[in-house]
Amino acid sequence: MSFRSRTTNMYPFLQKDGTLAKLPKPTARLAVHFGAIVEDVTSRPRNYSNFSHNNKDCTTEVTCRKRPGHKPCSAQIVAFLDVCPSVIAWHCPKCHDGGSIVGWEGKIWDKRKT
Ligand SMILES: [Zn+2]
Repeated sequence: MSFRSRTTNMYPFLQKDGTLAKLPKPTARLAVHFGAIVEDVTSRPRNYSNFSHNNKDCTTEVTCRKRPGHKPCSAQIVAFLDVCPSVIAWHCPKCHDGGSIVGWEGKIWDKRKT
């Protein structure tokens, strides 16, 4: 089982000018959720953004949106830049939901200072 099997591409959430597109509510919620993960990871000091097995350093402020058994999971998502640095890998330490995020580099959620 791989928790990185699901890939979210941030690119379709944006308009041509790089601002957030007008999206249907469920899609907009996804954009906010995954955007927050990207912002959290990219606003860390560089050393802490990278791939790490230390969940503690990589825990975000973003809560899991899964509802296993119709109960909100609400655990804090763990996320980091993957071995391939254009990919952000994320997973939930509680319900083990997870995936990867691409298409965020240089976009509104990218808080890295170059
Ligand atoms: Zn969860």
